[in-house]
Order: sequence, then C-alpha cells, then structure tokens
Amino acid sequence: MSGNTDKNSSAKSIGILGGTFDPIHCGHLHIAQALQQQLHCQEIRFIPCKNPLLGKKAIANEQQRLTMLQRALVSYPHFIIDEREIKRSTPSYTIDTLRSLRKEFKENPLALILGRDNLAHLNHWHEWTALIQSAHLVIVPRIGCTATYNDTIQDLIKKHQTHDPALLLQQPAGLLFMATVKPLAISSTAIRAAIAQGSMPTGLLPSSVLDYILEQKLYTLRT
Ligand code: ATP
Repeated sequence: MSGNTDKNSSAKSIGILGGTFDPIHCGHLHIAQALQQQLHCQEIRFIPCKNPLLGKKAIANEQQRLTMLQRALVSYPHFIIDEREIKRSTPSYTIDTLRSLRKEFKENPLALILGRDNLAHLNHWHEWTALIQSAHLVIVPRIGCTATYNDTIQDLIKKHQTHDPALLLQQPAGLLFMATVKPLAISSTAIRAAIAQGSMPTGLLPSSVLDYILEQKLYTLRT
C-alpha cells in the first residue's frame, strides 16, 4: 500500500487508532466512524500493540486480538488492520510506528487518535515531544475522564491546538484538535469484567466478536 503522491490532488489524511483491543468494542468503532467523517480520512488504521506491553499485559493473545479485529472490521472498507507493531520485535512505541508510517505516507496528514485518558499521560510516552512532529493529535473525550492536564500537557495544548479541523488537511503533522465525538461509556476493562462475572456485554461489542470470545473462553477469570 502506498501514500497518495499525486501532485494534482491534496493528500488525504490517515487516521491512526492504536490500542490493545483486548477486545475491540463499539467505543472504538464509534470514534473511528465519527472521525473518518469529520476529518475526511481516506482510511483509519487500527494498530494493535504487541503483547506483552510495558505496564499493561493483554489477556487475549496476539492472534486472538487480531481475529477479533478482523471480525469487527469486516464490513468497514475504510478501516484497516495494520500489523506493524505486532510484527516488530521491538516494544510498541508509538513514535516508531509514526516514523514507519511516515516513510510510507510521505505527504499525507497523519491523525493520531487518542482518548483523553491517554493525553493526560502523554508526557510519559517514549520520545513524546516527537509525536506531534510526525502526526496531528486528535483527542476524543472519554466518559469518566475529566479534562485536567498537568502544566506540560497544557503547554502542548496551548502551542498546537486548532479549533478548525479543515487545517488538519493542509499540513502533514503538528496540530492538536479536540474532537467533539459523543463518548460512549464502553471500555475493554468493563467488558472483560462483565464476562468474568458471567454476564453478557451484549451491545457493547459486535456480536461476531462476542461469539468468538465465548468460543475461545476468553476473559472468564477475574483480572
Ligand atoms: P482498557 O479498558 O483495557 O484500558 P480501552 O477500552 O481503553 O482498554 P484500548 O484498546 O486501550 O481500549 O484503546 C485504544 C484507544 O481507544 C485509546 O486511545 C483509548 O483512549 C480509546 N478508547 C477506547 N475506548 C474508548 C471510548 N469508549 N471512547 C473514546 N475513546 C476510547
């Protein structure tokens, strides 16, 4: 797959949604659908991180998380599973992923989608100041996550925030946009907890994914 290098048309933006996807759920699909429209993305790339992750170990293995993504995304032609972090032998640092995407998509705006929970801790990420040099940061609200940021993050917001999403299409990286997507009160943690307690999280994730979880007997133990 290659980036849009046609000089006569402006390069389209690529949305990037990294995560553990343990499991993928309707909250992920909802933000991807909303942002694909709002930001005019040619595609949204779902990038599952490698297992084990530093500090947060997935319960499902890599193949199971990939299978759940495949089932969930099958009817969304603009949503792509990108396996580059799973295939890499090094830790799933987002900056490495962005640099590798940038080699492929030389001119396209890259929009790194992050929940507010992630923005609040962004200054702990590896080479965090380089992230906004490689991509735009698109922040989505999350239920239960209040928008209080430390001074370092407030400074990042002050320097890079735009309120005009159209500007994200005019440069490849460097802007921070707070998207107004209605947050859904869904998390992978709550889904895993529901299954461990023996209740069915129907409606919180695609039924094909829930069927697979039940077939594989995933998340039956409390974590
Ligand atoms: P967990 O509960 O295990 O921490 P999660 O539900 O946060 O998982 P991840 O795969 O870690 O899911 O999330 C990937 C990205 O999607 C993160 O940036 C996260 O903030 C965002 N995200 C997940 N769920 C939602 C949601 N309901 N609304 C908005 N953003 C979400």
